[in-house]
Amino acid sequence: MRALLAAHANTAWFLTAVLADAPAYRPPYQQPRYLHRQTGGASYRGMAAPAGDPGPVAADRYACPHGDYVWYRPDIGTPIGACPTHHVPLVRA
Ligand SMILES: [Zn+2]
Repeated sequence: MRALLAAHANTAWFLTAVLADAPAYRPPYQQPRYLHRQTGGASYRGMAAPAGDPGPVAADRYACPHGDYVWYRPDIGTPIGACPTHHVPLVRA
């Protein structure tokens, strides 16, 4: 029973964290405020992730040129989409 309650609490926390990240709705491990960088030093922004690195920092950020939509590319094999509002290609941001 305790294990069940703990699992439920973890799920609720996860859902809350995802919903709080509107409009991106990233899972907590891809949200900057939940990332605990181990290496310190230089920022990861704009740097290519090492090959085979499964870390969440590998996701590139794309945005609508009109600024209303943000999308994170989960991996290099995923095609870059378009803004659902303006139907224009997203640009790296
Ligand atoms: Zn747009």
